[in-house]
Amino acid sequence: MTLSDSFGRVHSDLRISLTDRCSLRCTYCMPADGVPWLPRDSMLSTEELVRVARVGVEAGIRAIRLTGGEPLLRPDVVDVVAALAALRGPHGAPELSLTTNALRLPELAAPLREAGLSRVNISLDTLRPDRFKELTRRDKFDETIAGIEAAREAGLSPIKLNTVAMYGVNDDEIVDLARFAVERGLHLRFIEQMPLDPGHTWDRQRMVTAGDIIAALEAEWTLTPAEDRGSAPAQRYLLDGGPATVGVIASVTAPFCGACDRLRLTADGQLRNCLFARTETDVRAALRSGGTDAQIDAAIRECLAGKKAGHGIGDPEFRQPDRPMSAIGG
Ligand code: SAM
Ligand code: SF4
Repeated sequence: MTLSDSFGRVHSDLRISLTDRCSLRCTYCMPADGVPWLPRDSMLSTEELVRVARVGVEAGIRAIRLTGGEPLLRPDVVDVVAALAALRGPHGAPELSLTTNALRLPELAAPLREAGLSRVNISLDTLRPDRFKELTRRDKFDETIAGIEAAREAGLSPIKLNTVAMYGVNDDEIVDLARFAVERGLHLRFIEQMPLDPGHTWDRQRMVTAGDIIAALEAEWTLTPAEDRGSAPAQRYLLDGGPATVGVIASVTAPFCGACDRLRLTADGQLRNCLFARTETDVRAALRSGGTDAQIDAAIRECLAGKKAGHGIGDPEFRQPDRPMSAIGG
């Protein structure tokens, strides 16, 4: 059983957004205020989202990543993880991971691990508290670092750190961030900033490219590309021959769309075949009108059938999606 699109790409990775709410306001993701929140009654219940995930797992999904907004703001996140961990498909149980800003990890890391979560990706863009406050519009640097520690103590492993590299904002911290991760056994990946910011101010000419990131790292270490990356978006580099590595995700300058295996479910029950998709498939309607599992499976396949070859950033007709990143699920 597989989920293929019209280009023969087999999809095995489902990203589920648990909420569009967030405890930070990162400038590249959300506006400072006036966020157009998804209406509460449009959000999928846990039973509804687990049902979509079950149909997906039975059709070939092998990995589920929980995201948002900030997924740990969902009050029943531990129950969501437990229910997803109990799913079984032709490939067995799905691997469960979560992308988070880490703020609630001190109280949640251990129960999440117990419920079946295997690993976390944590966002960290700076090591300077003042900068953190400017970038996220919240004074919570120490809490973030405490959250990273809590994930380590709970044995969530490996811990990946995501860093969006930004010109004139944190591009002078590339080596410091990499060293911070290496010293703690964390797997850091630098991400090229994508045109998903609420102000639509993204400018390709002013973005920090994978090439810029590699050049900054090479000032400190000798970089050797690590083994074949498969469908992983990050190209990993061994630092001074390894074992330490740093990853670079060149979403814009070297897109990995040809190997994309992802499908997304928004918190309000819309299936998306790409971060940058301009159309969605409404699975909530099927769920709330007595739809059968076969109809949910058909909605998933319909969504995949419309998937384009690539995200098209750089094409003259490219337009940013209408939803902010926080409502898509990164
Ligand atoms: N709140 C969680 C977090 O920050 O990890 C999960 C949701 S967040 C939308 C998921 C990831 O998307 C984060 O690593 C964040 O840095 C990344 N992200 C958000 N906006 C982005 C943009 N414009 N370009 C590249 N990455 C972005
Ligand atoms: Fe919140 Fe994550 Fe977006 Fe930052 S990147 S505003 S933490 S959803």
